[in-house]
Amino acid sequence: MNIEPSTGLAVGKLSVVATPIGNLEDITLRALRTLKECNVIYAEDTRVISKLLARYEIKKPLQRLDAATEMKKADEITTRLEDGEHVVLVSDAGTPGISDPGARLVGYIRLQLPNIIIEAIPGPSALTAALSIAGIDSAGFTFLGFLPHKKGRQTALSKIMESEIPIVLYESPHRIVKLLKELETLKASRVIIARELTKVHEEIISGTVADVQEYFAMHPEAVRGEFVVIIAP
Ligand code: SAM
Repeated sequence: MNIEPSTGLAVGKLSVVATPIGNLEDITLRALRTLKECNVIYAEDTRVISKLLARYEIKKPLQRLDAATEMKKADEITTRLEDGEHVVLVSDAGTPGISDPGARLVGYIRLQLPNIIIEAIPGPSALTAALSIAGIDSAGFTFLGFLPHKKGRQTALSKIMESEIPIVLYESPHRIVKLLKELETLKASRVIIARELTKVHEEIISGTVADVQEYFAMHPEAVRGEFVVIIAP
C-alpha cells in the first residue's frame, strides 16, 4: 500500500522498473527497494523475473503481462491502483516500453487515472548501453527498434540510408546476416554491432558492412545472442 504522508490516504502507484539486460548485477538500489516494497509485480515472463528476484531474495506475487495480455490486464491493474496498491511493471530485460510491452498500459492508466503516481525507475537498456561504447557522436540519433520483417521493411531501409544521423536498431540472430546483406545492397558504409552486452560473450564488431560480414563468416558462433545494430550516416 502506498500512503500519501500529507493525507494518510492510500494512493495507487505504478512503478515502471528497468531490469538487467544480461548481468544480474545491473540493477539499481532503487529498483531493488521498489521490488521489495510493492504489492504485486506484473512481468512479461514470470520465469525470467523469478531468477532476478531469487538472486536478491525477494518474494512477491507475480502476474504475467506480455504483449498479448497487456490491454486485457489494464482494467485489473486500474482497479488495484484505485484500491491504493503499489504495482510494479517489468519486462524480460531492460526498460519496459522500449521494444517491449508497457507503453500502451501506461498510456491507458494515464487516461483512466490522471491522479495516480506513475514513476520511472530507470536503469539498463540495450540501446543506451550500445551507444555508450560505440564511440560515435550520438548527440542525435534515430532509434527504430526492430525493423518490420516483411511489409514496410524496404521503405524503412531506404529511409535509413537517407539519414544524416546514426540509426540504432534491434536485431535477432535469425536476421542479422540478412540485414547485413540488405545494407550491403543499399551501399551502407559503416556499421557497429553490439553483441551480448553485459554478458560473457559481449563484443563490439565494427567496420564497413563487408568487414562485419567477413567477421561473421569467419566466426559463425558470433551469429548468436542479442544484437544492437548502429548504422553510421
Ligand atoms: N526493453 C529492452 C531494452 O530496454 O533494451 C529491449 C527489449 S527487445 C524485446 C530485445 C532486443 O533488445 C534484442 O533482440 C536485442 O536486439 C536487444 N538486446 C537486449 N539485450 C541485449 C544485450 N544484452 N545485448 C545486445 N542487445 C540486446
